[in-house]
Amino acid sequence: MSLGVLLVEDDRELRTTLRDALQVEGYRVVSSASLADARAVMFNALAQGGLDIVLIDPGLPDGDGASLLADLRRQHGTPVIVISARPGEDHKVRLLDEGADDYLVKPFSLAELLARMRVALRHRGTTVHPAIVRYDRADLAVDLETRRVRRAGAEVHLTPTEYRLLARLVRHAGQVVTHRQLLVDVWGPEYTEHTHYLRLYMAQLRAKLEAEPADPRLLLTEPGVGYRLVEPED
Ligand code: CA
Repeated sequence: MSLGVLLVEDDRELRTTLRDALQVEGYRVVSSASLADARAVMFNALAQGGLDIVLIDPGLPDGDGASLLADLRRQHGTPVIVISARPGEDHKVRLLDEGADDYLVKPFSLAELLARMRVALRHRGTTVHPAIVRYDRADLAVDLETRRVRRAGAEVHLTPTEYRLLARLVRHAGQVVTHRQLLVDVWGPEYTEHTHYLRLYMAQLRAKLEAEPADPRLLLTEPGVGYRLVEPED
């Protein structure tokens, strides 16, 4: 079962970037752009037991995102990481005192955020199963940490969407990933009916990654269910 993240961030570009990146990492992400919305989403997610960690930007248009800390602390002990544009030490110390598990100053690297999330989750006894981050099979090599894809040693250029789709399959290589899961994780929950996107992008990926795109050996179709990337060589 994947871990649930609530991402509270009003900067649309950062919110979208983080949401997509966290989904590629295998987290389930709900996001909010305001304090009021975050509060509603938070209680809903907590009630359903689907919230494992919260990322909060304190500078929200309708108030201080840090005010969510008290609610989370009082009731649930869900780990919280503050993602703030304010570098000042006073602010940082105050929020850590109020119960934040960690504090990252923007801009931060995705690798650092992911590492801090793993630490915060580990402190609460939640194990984060390392997903597959390097894939090797036949002449295909994918490294999700450096975001490099190579075929027979040569760098392959993928569009951002092609890359997200491939990364999603790499993370669960050897397992079938359903059409719905792929559409939700790569495009978003409003795209579950758009299976033609999948066919189109899978054809593009096969054209770039398979020796014979019409007879794929790596990116397999599971008829009526989804797609499967064959398990990596060890
Ligand atoms: Ca902000």
